[in-house]
Amino acid sequence: MKPVMDDWRHLLAHGTNHAADSGAAGDPAALARAETAFPVRINAYYRGLIGEPDDPLGRQVIPSVAELDDPGGVADPLGEDADMPVPHLVHRYPDRVLLLVTYQCAVYCRFCTRKRTVGRLPTPTVAETQVAVDYIRRTPRIRDVIVSGGDPFLLSDDRLSGILGLLRAVPTVQILRVDTRVPCVLPQRVTDALCRELSHHHPVYVNTHFNHPREVTPEARAACERLVDHGIPVGNQTVLLKGVNDDPATVKELVQRLLAIRVKPYYLYQCDPVQGTAHFRTSVTKGLEILAALRGHTSGMAVPTYVIDAPGGGGKVPLLPEGVVEMSEERVVVRNFEGKLFTYDAGGTRAAVK
Ligand SMILES: *Cc1c(COP(=O)(O)O)cnc(C)c1O
Repeated sequence: MKPVMDDWRHLLAHGTNHAADSGAAGDPAALARAETAFPVRINAYYRGLIGEPDDPLGRQVIPSVAELDDPGGVADPLGEDADMPVPHLVHRYPDRVLLLVTYQCAVYCRFCTRKRTVGRLPTPTVAETQVAVDYIRRTPRIRDVIVSGGDPFLLSDDRLSGILGLLRAVPTVQILRVDTRVPCVLPQRVTDALCRELSHHHPVYVNTHFNHPREVTPEARAACERLVDHGIPVGNQTVLLKGVNDDPATVKELVQRLLAIRVKPYYLYQCDPVQGTAHFRTSVTKGLEILAALRGHTSGMAVPTYVIDAPGGGGKVPLLPEGVVEMSEERVVVRNFEGKLFTYDAGGTRAAVK
């Protein structure tokens, strides 16, 4: 018998599943409407990390009446529904797809970009997943499959390993990725047994999702290191969120702590205009300011790519603080991280240009 507090199923089963006992502030009737619009789940591990309901961790998972006030929000901001050739599969880019294997998560993030399905749809059956795998098999340009959801790590070891095995049996599929927030929000789930199953299907990559330095706990560290020790490179995707991480010092501390647990910051996302998230959205200017505070000021390894996901299925577009001040055939003037200007030979033949 495992001690109860190490048992992820126990932590999941003993969480908070209602606005009423989540610590949320405000009119109970309005909170009930917010909960109807998007379910509440705060597992017992993550609940234990929250100090005050409106602290950076509480804000991510405790429902707010502000979710009801978002005239500009849309259900499917990335236009994913239009890019689904078969159910549970998003095919937007030429050589890679997103395979949605469950719609359950270990917590329901109030800013979730897939609110229209997450926490609502039943887990796809083996037969439904097989239909998606058949599409991948007859579409040989697909060489990278991102297993996502929902959170794939909420499936049993056998079920997840079975899906990875089906994908691995497609000769044109080169790499498998699993996108999961579990190493951050329910790290006890990342057992040796799970890591061993994953490692049977190499090359397997994991991208996880930390948003705040306080989430980098000893338990989360153990989970990430266990994955890496099984040969699985771990990346991180952060969403820029007002009142959570929308300042340079917080993001800098986060990315430095991630590198220290062998997790490579991958993407920093502008918050998508999904329905009910107006109170989380920050300006693009703020995102660029945060990025400018990282580049040159800390390890290049720690600097994620800042992206906006273009509305209506345009895909990810990277944004950079302006480094090029002036450019002509002869010369390019660049600004470094300290704000100093340098002139460079644009043709690349001379060492210095006047
Ligand atoms: C983000 C995303 C991918 C993966 O993009 P990478 O830049 O390769 O990480 C694939 N498909 C969809 C629909 C996505 O949103």
